Amino acid sequence: MRIPDPHGMTMTVSLYTQKLPFSTATLQTLIPRIPIAHRFLLHSSSSTRTFAPRNLRRFCTRAESSSAGEKGVGESKGQKFDFDLFTIGAGSGGVRASRFAANFGASVTICELPFATISSELTGGVGGTCVLRGCVPKKLMVYSSKYSHAFEESHGFGWNYEADPVHDWEVLMANKNAELQRLTGIYKNILSNAGVQLIEGRGKIVGPHTVDVDGKIYTARHILISVGGRPFIPDIPGKEYVIDSDAALDLPLRPGKIAIVGGGYIAMEFAGIFNGLNSEVHVFIRQKKVLRGFDEEVRDFVAEQMSLRGIEFHTEESPQAIIKSADGLLSVKTNKGTIDGFSHVMFATGRRPNTKNMGLEKVGVKLADKGAIEVNDYSQTSVDSIWAIGDATDRVNLTPVALMEGGAFAKTVFDNQPTKADYRAIPAAVFSQPPISQVGLTEEQAVLEYGDIDVFTSNFRPLKETISGLPDRSFMKIIVSTTTDKVVGVHMCGEDAPEIMQGIAIAVKAGLSKSDFDTTIGIHPTAAEEFVTMRTPTRKHRKPLSESEV
Ligand SMILES: Cc1cc2nc3c(=O)[nH]c(=O)nc-3n(C[C@H](O)[C@H](O)[C@H](O)COP(=O)(O)OP(=O)(O)OC[C@H]3O[C@@H](n4cnc5c(N)ncnc54)[C@H](O)[C@@H]3O)c2cc1C
Repeated sequence: MRIPDPHGMTMTVSLYTQKLPFSTATLQTLIPRIPIAHRFLLHSSSSTRTFAPRNLRRFCTRAESSSAGEKGVGESKGQKFDFDLFTIGAGSGGVRASRFAANFGASVTICELPFATISSELTGGVGGTCVLRGCVPKKLMVYSSKYSHAFEESHGFGWNYEADPVHDWEVLMANKNAELQRLTGIYKNILSNAGVQLIEGRGKIVGPHTVDVDGKIYTARHILISVGGRPFIPDIPGKEYVIDSDAALDLPLRPGKIAIVGGGYIAMEFAGIFNGLNSEVHVFIRQKKVLRGFDEEVRDFVAEQMSLRGIEFHTEESPQAIIKSADGLLSVKTNKGTIDGFSHVMFATGRRPNTKNMGLEKVGVKLADKGAIEVNDYSQTSVDSIWAIGDATDRVNLTPVALMEGGAFAKTVFDNQPTKADYRAIPAAVFSQPPISQVGLTEEQAVLEYGDIDVFTSNFRPLKETISGLPDRSFMKIIVSTTTDKVVGVHMCGEDAPEIMQGIAIAVKAGLSKSDFDTTIGIHPTAAEEFVTMRTPTRKHRKPLSESEV
């Protein structure tokens, strides 16, 4: 995995901008069924507002300001400001937007909470969720946890150990934390190299152009809110015993037996991490299946593979209380009974935008349900001078999306290039074990959208597992619109799926057809070559004939 550099971040999930021809009607049917983190938000006249950003021409660059003899000060309708831009929150989106704005000549200040591995209303750290409590520490733990499976696989290849390898939790945590410190330092450098001033403290909005940081007042022509989100734990008896994803990434000891509540991508990833690190893992999901919104076959396939690795799924089972016994162990009381003996109970039950107690409603910034900031296509809020990006707006909660929104905002406001964030198709990954990755439509969405669909699937035992003797399999799916021959969706669950899918996403973005896939030469021997060798459809969906056609 590449790490952030001063020119941009490389993450494991990327945004791309293929124009898939969804109709508005289909979109509106699909969006509620797709989890926020993996929605394909497509532009349509009725589902998104398309008006131009209001009052854009007020920006004057730092150069213009100083030529007017006012260092770093802009003017609007006779008003003077300390800065052109004040950003609240130095996570993925805030850092990107501030850096780009400064490169366009704006005078920029950003505020961020003091560093801590666990977030709160008073703690955070430069780099934000992705770097400190999300993508990066999670992926480091995935790497660590994958070794146990590799050790198992290795026996068939002739490896024998006199004793089972022992994992040192303290070493993992110390190295992970050292890496996070390094990364937060890199982010600070990114800001200072771009000329962005960093202030440590909690930002609060007190006027359309005014921010209060721990009692000190700053004014800016534009304010950008990029405060991200935090884990949400439902209010049930015993919630004080529960940990969230922040804490799960920074435990002092390896859990002996852990209950993970939730069926989304964060729950699946942590189930794989703790299973790989030899904890006993139980996953409780309210629904019948994990990963709502993903391709149905992928949902079944990944749950089966994870079960084979020893994870126990409790489906349609919702925790109602967590009880601590005298020996310190926790019991999970559900609608179906009580399961005892957990050292840890982790809730991965969603996240909420960090918009509480920020003074937003007072200045007229409209909030949607659960505190998400309402914005137009240009990330402008209901107050002209206040903008919002990233998880705080609860559009598509992924790092590359926050980066894209930050870049679009900076271009719109500080480079006179009105730029809409583009959500037309977003490849995504789940770093479960085995991992999942996808780009484009699920089979269910494609049937609704196009009607006439050919589906090519392959469910196979990878070469490595023929000798390892383990029951691992890989699953791949290509979905093709038969009217155009265009590949409209690709899905994979199996080793290296996210790495493979990033390349496939380019092909799908370029609008390539199934025959382009078919004429591509495979790389042999790989699992990925399967994507260019699937010739016979597994299923054909055809629209029912209308009455006039019968
Ligand atoms: C466990 C986990 C795993 C994830 N894995 C992935 C993944 O693999 N791939 C992926 O693309 N995405 C992943 N994500 C999602 C990703 O981390 C977020 O989508 C991304 O970080 C959002 O960026 P942001 O800029 O909106 O907010 P954030 O990165 O959350 O940054 C917001 C910043 O604002 C600060 N802040 C909040 N309030 C204030 C205030 N009042 N004043 C000053 N500062 C404030 C916070 O401290 C924080 O630093 C994961 C998330 C989690 C929780």
